[in-house]
Amino acid sequence: MQFTNSIQAFEAAQKVIPGGVDSPVRAFGGVGGTPPFIKEAKGAFMTDIDGNTYIDFVQSWGPLILGHASEVIETAVIEAVKKGLSFGAPTEVETQLASLICGLFPAIDKVRFVSSGTEAVMSAIRLARGFTGRSDIIKFEGCYHGHSDALLVKAGSGLMTFGNPSSPGVPEGTTKHTLLARYNDLESVKACFEASSGVACVIIEPIAGNMGFVPATAAFLEGLRTLCDEYGAVLIFDEVMSGFRASLKGAQGIVNTRPDMVTFGKVIGGGMPVGAFGARAEIMAMLSPEGPVYQAGTLSGNPIAMSAGLASLKEIISKEAQLYPHLEALAVRLTQGLEAAAKAQGISLQVGHRGSMFGFFFNEAPVANFDEALRSDTKRFAAFHRGMLERGVYFACSQFEAGFICEPMNEAMIDSVIAYAHEVMKTL
Ligand SMILES: *Cc1c(COP(=O)(O)O)cnc(C)c1O
Repeated sequence: MQFTNSIQAFEAAQKVIPGGVDSPVRAFGGVGGTPPFIKEAKGAFMTDIDGNTYIDFVQSWGPLILGHASEVIETAVIEAVKKGLSFGAPTEVETQLASLICGLFPAIDKVRFVSSGTEAVMSAIRLARGFTGRSDIIKFEGCYHGHSDALLVKAGSGLMTFGNPSSPGVPEGTTKHTLLARYNDLESVKACFEASSGVACVIIEPIAGNMGFVPATAAFLEGLRTLCDEYGAVLIFDEVMSGFRASLKGAQGIVNTRPDMVTFGKVIGGGMPVGAFGARAEIMAMLSPEGPVYQAGTLSGNPIAMSAGLASLKEIISKEAQLYPHLEALAVRLTQGLEAAAKAQGISLQVGHRGSMFGFFFNEAPVANFDEALRSDTKRFAAFHRGMLERGVYFACSQFEAGFICEPMNEAMIDSVIAYAHEVMKTL
């Protein structure tokens, strides 16, 4: 496989864009080598500017559950584009998408649209603080909630891959209200509550995908619910990645715990920039212009992005009964196949999945939190990643990311990936 054109493109990009990329993980820093520059993609496959084709388990980091260039989304976007790109005034498509979401999630009466997951979480935190009149927030080591200042503490994949536990440029004052707890460890959460004079919210990825794939246990989430009720804190499920992915209703379709607030991104925009946050009416009533907590966006609820999101959600809702079992069966097939390929070479691989989200760690022991994730063999991961890439398999370029199945994938594709994994594991 030749990467000549990508190597040139990467050099040109680095002259005018820091690191040559607009989001750090894209630079392949965790695995080395040049990131393939992508020319086009369709269904399960992407083609780079050297003409190499890859089966894509990144799917734009999650959004493309229907695969690349899905026709239903493409049609909706083209129709919307003809009517104007942006109005800065309300449109009916926003209400339609909001109604779908409120209908799916019992915890949500109202929802506000923004343009990214980062914005959704940042705004949700402000609203939780405004609603409770408190400042402290509890987050978990290894969970990523976007790049806003207060949340950029031990925030998983991107930061970890580049060796910054937290980021310079974030003043201490900004993070002094951010308390850190251990994932899947209720005692550590209790300790944070006891140490704080007022916790506004607990924010968690109920199925973590940013320290690698690490799901929270049902008992842990239920324990968070009880603690939040006891202390009057808002429980926020950050389902930017897991929403519409782990199941149609994200983690909330799998566990019984009901959060107070939910944040969305990725799948909700079908590949366009959309984020959202929602809660029960009493909380959302605090948000401007209904209430005093300010939040706004020139391109929020953009009609093209909303049309893409609406088309994508309508499609996955109408196909739910076949689509989700199909995605999950492929995730099981892939992860079991990878595990077997590793085992055949005496390598221990920890695998997991929820719906169409999956992950694997080169780790001797099961992974339930950030510290355990960090014990993974990142060198071995990098060699595996490179070997697979050269065989046309595009996995996320860090040990600490999740992978994604999309609708156009099938058993034959997964089996060919597993066959390649057997070859590559032999070389590790
Ligand atoms: C991706 C992600 C975000 C940030 O979303 P952006 O659209 O990249 O700003 C926030 N939370 C979680 C759980 C994510 O996976």
